[in-house]
Amino acid sequence: MTSYEPVIGLEIHAELLTDSKMFCGCEVVDTTVTAPNIATCVVCTAQPGALPVVNREAVTYAMRVGLALNCTINTFNQFDRKSYFYPDLPKGYQITQYGHPIAADGWLDIEVGGQTKRIGIRRAHMEEDTGKSIHVGGYSLVDLNRAGVPLLEIVTEPDFRSVEELEVFARKLRAILVYLGVNHGDMSKGVLRFEANVSVRPTGAEVLGTRTEIKNLNSIRSMVRASAYEIERQSALLAAGGEVQQQTMGFNETTGETFTQRIKETADDYRYFPEPDLPPLIIEEAWVDEVRASLPELPDAKKARFIEAHGIKDEDAETLVGDLAVADYFDAAVAAGGDPQTTANWITGELFREMNDKNLTVDALNVPPEALVALIGLVDADTINNNTAKKVLKIMLEEGGDPGAIVEARGLAQISDEGALEAIVDRILEENPENVATYLGGKEGLFGWFVGQVMRETRGKANAALVNDLLAEKLEARRE
Ligand code: ADP
Ligand code: MG
Ligand code: ZN
Repeated sequence: MTSYEPVIGLEIHAELLTDSKMFCGCEVVDTTVTAPNIATCVVCTAQPGALPVVNREAVTYAMRVGLALNCTINTFNQFDRKSYFYPDLPKGYQITQYGHPIAADGWLDIEVGGQTKRIGIRRAHMEEDTGKSIHVGGYSLVDLNRAGVPLLEIVTEPDFRSVEELEVFARKLRAILVYLGVNHGDMSKGVLRFEANVSVRPTGAEVLGTRTEIKNLNSIRSMVRASAYEIERQSALLAAGGEVQQQTMGFNETTGETFTQRIKETADDYRYFPEPDLPPLIIEEAWVDEVRASLPELPDAKKARFIEAHGIKDEDAETLVGDLAVADYFDAAVAAGGDPQTTANWITGELFREMNDKNLTVDALNVPPEALVALIGLVDADTINNNTAKKVLKIMLEEGGDPGAIVEARGLAQISDEGALEAIVDRILEENPENVATYLGGKEGLFGWFVGQVMRETRGKANAALVNDLLAEKLEARRE
């Protein structure tokens, strides 16, 4: 039986969250919460005679992304009109870049299954976002707050060979956009949108198969699910002797299936031509250098620094740098004196659990980095044991507060008083002669049961190392 290999390329639309829009002075607002049509003017509502002016900050943002993706920044930039009719596109055309995009020929390396894989970036071009159509109560309404928001379209080469590669790439690209400060990465708000072009071909074949393009994917998870479904569908179709039809598809979140939206018989004719209201934009080398010099530390560099400077595990470093706020939190905790690996463990364990459960960012937790470090300090100082520390953290996550004060107020301090523990150990051995006999008769596994009894007596607060020593000693003493 023929096996099939998937081939996938991505088109990514990232809004550039500048202060003002691409070609006018209107504010870029959060369109999911702002009253409709208040961030609009004669330019972005396409009044006759209104003229566009290029937003310098948007160009800088686009350059940041291009440089971070190892692209060449083109000196000569041309804006073009892409004509099509849509109710949320008031001009009847979108200003975009066609033949002369701002960035081209880049790449991004990703780690998948312990291997580095290079994904080619074909181009990135500047354009303007459209408005939004809203369908309510039998009416179709339009909100133009988003019309003219700067948008960067990033197009990859068809270099993906698995959905795992897709997922790692998408997460990394999103992280980079956040690091660069050009986008907050919240796909549910539509500021970052992925479209997957999916084809399959017999394994080993050279030529690419016919692709379908899946649009309107509102999360990375949806993109992965939709692509996986499409790979299966196309492979089964080809295996049964059928042919894939080039088309635009949507994805049904509920059924997990793709569906046909539009079948392309011919290439669309957008009648591209140079935008007559905007002269070519010439980007001087000095400006590119300035932007390059201002790039922040990006995820790969940060990961390398976490490993080299702090000696934490590779996988933990990878996890921490995937979210800028988390990476900053880690940096702040280490700066406040937290042992790096212990801090990383708490973040990737307990804090991530809370963030995932409650869908919160690390900054929205009640536990600032200094408080986590203070908690770790209490464990180091043997004031509390690890289990108690988890309880204290739970309280901190719920109510906030200083870990030392919580331990004090609730009497959670570890019992390290040898005399007190010794009395408890003696009593438990005294009260359970059969278990002592069984243990001494060779059932070593019972040791844990004795530890458990002491912990129960002390409501989990006993110094575990001390309990272990005392028990071992006292049990041995009963051997004769
Ligand atoms: P268009 O602009 O018509 O959508 P492009 O040729 O510019 O088409 O390609 C768009 C995206 O589709 C790119 O990400 C590219 O890598 C990807 N792509 C092109 N051909 C294939 C194919 N046969 N299989 C999978 N992806 C493809
Ligand atoms: Mg396309
Ligand atoms: Zn405007």
